Amino acid sequence: MRKEPVKISERDSLSRVKGFEEVVGGFSEAEALQEASRCIQCKDPKCIAGCPVGIDIKVFIGQIIKKDFDGAYSTIRQKNNFPSICGRVCPAEYQCRKECVFTKKGEPFASKEAIGIHFLERFIGDYGAQKKLQVKSASDDKRSKIKVAVVGSGPAGLCCAGELARCGIKVVVFEGLHKTGGVLRYGIPPFRLPRNILDFEIDSLKNLGVEIRTNYIIGKVKAIDELFAEGFSAIFLGLGAGIPSFMGIPGENLCNIYSANEFLTRVNLMSAHKFPEFHTPVNIGKHIVVIGGGNTAMDAARVAIRLQHMNGIEPDTTISYRRTEVEMPARRLEIEHAKEEGVKFDILVKPEEFIGDENGFVRKMRSSRCELGEPDSSGRRRPVAIANSAFESDCDMAVVAVGLGANKILTGVTPDLSTDKYGDVKVNPETMETSIKGVFAGGDIVGGEGTVIEAMGMAKKAAVAILDYLEKK
Ligand code: FAD
Ligand code: SF4
Repeated sequence: MRKEPVKISERDSLSRVKGFEEVVGGFSEAEALQEASRCIQCKDPKCIAGCPVGIDIKVFIGQIIKKDFDGAYSTIRQKNNFPSICGRVCPAEYQCRKECVFTKKGEPFASKEAIGIHFLERFIGDYGAQKKLQVKSASDDKRSKIKVAVVGSGPAGLCCAGELARCGIKVVVFEGLHKTGGVLRYGIPPFRLPRNILDFEIDSLKNLGVEIRTNYIIGKVKAIDELFAEGFSAIFLGLGAGIPSFMGIPGENLCNIYSANEFLTRVNLMSAHKFPEFHTPVNIGKHIVVIGGGNTAMDAARVAIRLQHMNGIEPDTTISYRRTEVEMPARRLEIEHAKEEGVKFDILVKPEEFIGDENGFVRKMRSSRCELGEPDSSGRRRPVAIANSAFESDCDMAVVAVGLGANKILTGVTPDLSTDKYGDVKVNPETMETSIKGVFAGGDIVGGEGTVIEAMGMAKKAAVAILDYLEKK
């Protein structure tokens, strides 16, 4: 008889909405062994092709089955520098788990019977962190004299830095913000990714010899030419997609309308929920509307409803989305969690206008109802507004989470760096090299908003090409 999937433990929704503690608990050893034992160790394991960095999933699960947790850690770390992070945030239902033999054919996401690969990865990542397991860097006298600059400390930059440092290269990471991690720190809230986990993974890079300089904006403090002149032999750009998009509808400039980036940065990076202990404030409304259906929207809504609870406000936070739940790009687990926490979902709704009061603060949102039409270029069915369906809803705070665009601080002052019409950096897809010799790029600055593991996949490819470039040089 086929074994049932092991259910992961979760904090109950009534208590978790009052704070920022992690929602999903990890597997115990017994649970990990039980879940791993469901893997049938396929002769031709399809799951591996579903992982953008190609972790040997079959092997590491096999090692868990044999209780060789050190071995499993080493197998994962050969391909992935950040198992505890990816085990928590990877959209596995679209990736490795979707390819698992237990996913039924034609399903849009992984079936619930698919092996809990990401939870097993998290178990092993956390085991490695508890035991302080480290991956050694190769000591190579020749390579240790070569310096590579990495711009940006999000998953792309950190991953590229780790890969190069492991090969003995001296890496310096330049980060514009005062803290490292990119979206992992300022976007994803601690109830999904606890900061001690993030810090451990970043510290493990420092242990490999990676030097990190924060408050250092390349393009303002120094230009690319100056980095080369200082002796860096190659440069990797992991600049991310940090610029929020807006809908361009009337009233969008009213007070208490935030971009999701600003709202999440205020809380996650600047601790605005602890104002005045911390200096950054954030306004919280009684009727909050979050517009969008991706991870960013789910995070914003779940942070917002927590802040309502923590401030003694009767919770009323609504996600407003143009399509249906099936088309939402967010991880399925985040959608479920948002609902459990009391976030309302108003689907097939297109915001048309924000209406303010005499002081310039938003008070209402006017929207139209939609139906789904023909598929658009993304393959998803296009939302079409229904004539005469407009309605108004209470809204004294809104968070716009409809997409992010390229950060142009560096590209704007580097004319030789070719970009596309979206401002993303153009690369040779085989090597990730840009139009400037010796400058490589990866992550969201190449091809727009993606996922943590996709950013890492590109960074790994770039690291291989950088090593090759340095060798030839
Ligand atoms: P970023 O993480 O954006 O990092 C770029 C870094 O570069 C930043 O720290 C920035 O300050 C720095 N920088 C930029 N320009 C300069 C400069 N000129 N000089 C110095 N530093 C510079 N993906 C998932 O897989 N799972 C999820 O659950 C998930 N949730 C998300 C939630 C939110 C709220 C958001 C916004 C995204 C989420 N994503 C998720 C997407 C994922 O986080 C991104 O795809 C990923 O972070 C991209 O990595 P990156 O390194 O390219 O860019
Ligand atoms: Fe195990 Fe599924 Fe991979 Fe097969 S496809 S090896 S069952 S995880």
